[in-house]
Order: sequence, then structure tokens, then C-alpha cells
Amino acid sequence: MQCNLAVIKGDGIGPEVVTEAMKVLDTVGEKFGHTFDYEQILMGGCSIDATGVPLTDEAVAVAKSKDAVLLGSIGGNTSTSPWYKLPPNLRPEAGLLKIRKELGLFANLRPANLYDELKEACPLKAEIAERGFDMMMMRELTGGLYFGERHTEEVDGVMTAVDTLTYNENEIRRIAIKAFDIAMKRRKKVTSVDKANVLDSSRLWRKVVEEVAKDYPEVELEHMLVDNCAMQLVKDPAQFDVVLTENMFGDILSDEASMISGSIGMLSSASLNETKFGMYEPSGGSAPDIAGQNKANPIATILSAAMMLRYTFDLDKEADAVENAVKTVLKDGYRTIDIHSEGTQLVSCSEMGDLICERI
Ligand code: NAD
Repeated sequence: MQCNLAVIKGDGIGPEVVTEAMKVLDTVGEKFGHTFDYEQILMGGCSIDATGVPLTDEAVAVAKSKDAVLLGSIGGNTSTSPWYKLPPNLRPEAGLLKIRKELGLFANLRPANLYDELKEACPLKAEIAERGFDMMMMRELTGGLYFGERHTEEVDGVMTAVDTLTYNENEIRRIAIKAFDIAMKRRKKVTSVDKANVLDSSRLWRKVVEEVAKDYPEVELEHMLVDNCAMQLVKDPAQFDVVLTENMFGDILSDEASMISGSIGMLSSASLNETKFGMYEPSGGSAPDIAGQNKANPIATILSAAMMLRYTFDLDKEADAVENAVKTVLKDGYRTIDIHSEGTQLVSCSEMGDLICERI
């Protein structure tokens, strides 16, 4: 298969971790007979330095012409970098917001799982960590409270702020379909999280999710109230497969799920639109404190590339090979500095990439 990618290395550790992910994709290409073609575009601080803006329209056009985008991370030290003295619409993060909007990325996927070898990094009780977990948090990204109308006004002499939470049935249906499609590639269970005992938007959410579920008889659907879900994530995370929820609930719950998985350097993510197109990136930031030192953990980016193989290109066997190679490297005792502990062998960012390639 010919896979055409736009690559955004970005700032900080971005170039280091993306280089390792590209190495892994090339190894997959050699082993399984695929070709990965990369066109690099600028976004974030490096784009500001080169062009004066965090993302040019030309760069967006390149991204739109490809099958997927592989992204490192963008931004610098928010206290000391000159990029943060610019107006908000010219700062590095504005590039990220622009590309998400331009590409119509409405579904955010963040896997949260616990590797046997990293169980000691899990902040949950040992008996819960022992059972392990492997879930996919799916958050609606372009609707709800963060995009509704808002204003602040004085009402009868009292300052009053209003935010509105709006969803229409089409917005709910398209992400529900994505969630059920993804559940079909996993353990075939969807937990839809809402606040249907209080909110109208949640009652519509529940109704539309139930309609979509009828097209997926093999997938088990359960509904859970958001407050209960927050509790269940720390009490019994093993029960979850795909967790589907709206924007603000997903913002909070996906961070909770990340936290129980251990290191930020392990957490991959994807944002998808209605087609097979996706943007794949690590959940962490540009880590300016360790940038340029070949110390960063490239696994989050490498696992993001595996998600790309699975969800954009339907290359499940190839994605399995990458994920299994990561597991084997951890089992063999190799660790980057963020997950290093006594009795394990410390390796650099590029050494970790090489070790994973060898095992593919
Ligand atoms: P951060 O995630 O960059 O770093 C937090 C801590 O985690 C740091 O100690 C860092 O060294 C460590 N860390 C992160 N990724 C790592 C990895 N792969 N390997 C080893 N250690 C890793 O968060 P921050 O310091 O709050 O933000 C730094 C910059 O990143 C800011 O400009 C922020 O706006 C930006 N940011 C970008 C994205 C993105 O590109 N999507 C996301 C979050 C933050």
C-alpha cells in the first residue's frame, strides 16, 4: 500500500520523537511491503520563526492532500519563549486549533492502558492495577460547552456569566458511528457517558447513540452517568473498552484515564474526521526541559503511528506488530528516562526507536 503522510515535527522534542516514529513506519513498510511517503510541513513555533504565523494556508493545503498527518508537538516554554509575547492568534497553539478546524477533526481518541512492566507507575491500589486495563477514550471535539454561545452581563446588579451546551443529532451520530466502528476492532463494548438525569443534550445524546447501536448488534452498549464514570475509572477500570462521551466530560475523563496509565511519554492519541483521515500525535507536549538531548520517550509517538496504521489504513496486522514490539522492548527491560527505575536499562530516544524497529 502507498501511504501519503504530512509530517509536522514541530517544536521541542517533536523532531526527535517523530524521527523515531518515521523509522518505525519505514521498518513496517520494509517488512510488510508498504511505502510511506512523507511531506514535512511547519506548525507552531518553528512556523512562526520561518513565516510569521503558526500555520500557513499552504501547509493546511498540503495536509488536506494527504491520507493522514503525523504530528510531534508544538510550543515552547510558556514563561520564557518569545512566542508567548505574541497575540493569542499568532501563538504556537493557534496552529493546532486551525489545523483541527480546517481538517474537520471531531473525534478525539486516547487509548489508556496499563503495561504489565509499568504497573508500578499506576497510582491506583495494587490489586486494581494487577487486573490491568485497556480502554479507548473517545471524546467529541468540536461541539458542546466549549463551542456554545457565551456572554457575561450584569443582571439586576449582579455579574452573571452564561455558557451554552448545544449538540445536534448529526454531531452525536457521527461520533457514535466512529465509536461503534472502533469497538468492532476491539472488545466490542461501548460505554456511552452522559448526564441524562439532568441535561437535555445528554438525553438526545443517549437517544441517538441507541439508534446507532441498532446497526451494530455485535457491540454491547451501556450508558453511564458521568459522575459514576469518574468513580468507576479509579475503582474498576478493567470494565471499560470504548468510552464515548461529549467534549467537556471527555476533556476531564480522558485526563483521568491518562493519569491512571502512568507516564505521559507512553500516551498516544488520534483525531479523526468523517473519512479515514486522521491526525496522530502523542498526548504530551513539546517538553522544552528535555528538548534536543535525545532523552525523550518516543513510544507515545510510535504508538500514535500504530493507531494511524489501524484507523486510517486498516493495517491491523502491522499495527499489532508495532504494539507488540513496544511490549517486548519493555519486557526486555529497556526504558527511557521518564519510565526508568532500578533494575531496568536506560536508553536514549533514538536507541528506543532502534530497539522497537529490531523487534518488528
Ligand atoms: P509537556 O507535556 O511538554 O511536559 C510535561 C512534563 O512531561 C515535562 O517534564 C516533560 O519533560 C515530560 N514529558 C512530556 N513528554 C515526554 C516524553 N515524550 N518523554 C519524556 N518526558 C516527557 O507539558 P508542558 O511542559 O506543560 O508544556 C510544554 C509546551 O508544550 C507548552 O508550550 C505547551 O503549550 C505545549 N503543549 C503542546 C501540546 C501539543 O502539541 N499537542 C500538548 C500539550 C502541551
